[in-house]
Amino acid sequence: MNEPRIVIVGAGPAGVRAAEVLAAVGLRPVLVDENQRAGGQIYRQPPAGFVRSAKQLYGFESAKADALHHTFSQLLSHIDYRPETLVWNCDGRQLDLLDRGQQRSLPYSHLMLCTGAIDRVLPFPGWLLPGVYTLGAAQVALKAQGCVIGSRIVMVGSGPLLYLLAYQYAKAGASIAAVLDTSSFSGKLQATADLLKQPLTLAKGLYFLAWLRCHGVKVVEGVDKIAVSGEQKVKTISWHKNGREQTLECDAVASGFGLRSETQLADLAGCVFEFNQLNQQWLPQRDLAGRSSVKGVYLAGDGGGIAGADAAELAGKRAALALLEDLGKTIDPREGRRLDRALQRIQGFRRGLERAFPAPVAWARECADEEIICRCEEITAGELRRVVNHAGTVEMNRLKALTRVGMGRCQGRVCSAAAAEILACSAGKSLTEIGRLRGQPPIKPFPVVVGVALSSARETS
Ligand SMILES: Cc1cc2nc3c(=O)[nH]c(=O)nc-3n(C[C@H](O)[C@H](O)[C@H](O)COP(=O)(O)OP(=O)(O)OC[C@H]3O[C@@H](n4cnc5c(N)ncnc54)[C@H](O)[C@@H]3O)c2cc1C
Repeated sequence: MNEPRIVIVGAGPAGVRAAEVLAAVGLRPVLVDENQRAGGQIYRQPPAGFVRSAKQLYGFESAKADALHHTFSQLLSHIDYRPETLVWNCDGRQLDLLDRGQQRSLPYSHLMLCTGAIDRVLPFPGWLLPGVYTLGAAQVALKAQGCVIGSRIVMVGSGPLLYLLAYQYAKAGASIAAVLDTSSFSGKLQATADLLKQPLTLAKGLYFLAWLRCHGVKVVEGVDKIAVSGEQKVKTISWHKNGREQTLECDAVASGFGLRSETQLADLAGCVFEFNQLNQQWLPQRDLAGRSSVKGVYLAGDGGGIAGADAAELAGKRAALALLEDLGKTIDPREGRRLDRALQRIQGFRRGLERAFPAPVAWARECADEEIICRCEEITAGELRRVVNHAGTVEMNRLKALTRVGMGRCQGRVCSAAAAEILACSAGKSLTEIGRLRGQPPIKPFPVVVGVALSSARETS
């Protein structure tokens, strides 16, 4: 029998653990990642020459980061690792890669998608001003190169990353003017029973909050009507709390409203999707072990549904075991069951997080007509609403065809969550009823010269 050609996309916790399991039985998977170094988001490593210690970079998670990086370095001679390589398309059991500026194709017999997540972006007045970042971008600046985004920074949005990042920034010496949380204290209280399913993680979250308060950082929960203003750059941020407006001077804002799975490659690989109420997102169907609806395609980690870094490591191992089983190899069924149980326990905690940090429910109703939703194509909320009202549009791809929303460089990765909320709210439908934007290659921007070379090569052939 031919050797299987196994490709793993993503060298974060899920991808590295999957590669470890496969290499342990003598297989040699290809591990592709667009980053320079392995580790993914949470265990992101700085470029060579940067010297912050693991403790400074990863805080409480430094032991886990060290363990993952160590595993990866041991794996290197047993896998085909391809850093700085973007997978921009998946078509007919073949991936299209941009490998350090060169276009290449990579056929596979088995594909493991460990592509992680990005911030959920919800626009607010001033969100396009220079000085406004996503929480994720602000964290990348700190982790990758030891930079902070301003000298008087406000963190705003919802989700555990809000407090974690404020803590990481403050510990690194940045001045945090305020943390503005759109979720309420009472919502968090109601989520306590589920959050207690992972008491250690809950304790860390409470520690970050207490630390920030003890160090004089203003923390306001239950805020709404956020607006940033300034001429060329951020100057102030305002918000409402209990109907009263407040304003604060600042020179940078980091915002984010939870995370969204990166699912475009699963879509191009032909996976069937279903709406996931917990994640409030369309996700590729998968069984507990990570098998998708397409034979030979597996999903692990945040790319198949947000569950955090510990779950990503477990899910990477679990999906690799499923793959081995599908290849006819003997696996220890007890190990599969142990991983399944651990993953289910984490799901309980995950429910708690979603209840504690929901995306703002009134956002789509309150978003002003002049607000730009799709920044690539400069489409406003008002233009989307007009198409819904005049053309009777009730489906996402129709909305895209009529307005170009999600048709620009980001291919909807940034704007589709907000556009879907506007469509659903204006049409009086649920997110399930309006469907989802279909994935289109290239899933991320690549240089024009590569695109030109590619299309002339295709014309010639
Ligand atoms: C911006 C951000 C910051 C976060 N910070 C924290 C934190 O500080 N603490 C915490 O507990 N959790 C954090 N999380 C959540 C945490 O990162 C995840 O739970 C965990 O990293 C999931 O692991 P993973 O392996 O599924 O994905 P990731 O760690 O995200 O790894 C995915 C990898 O896939 C690669 N990739 C994706 N698409 C492609 C493609 N098309 N071609 C090539 N490579 C690709 C990426 O470069 C990345 O290295 C963060 C999430 C995000 C999005």
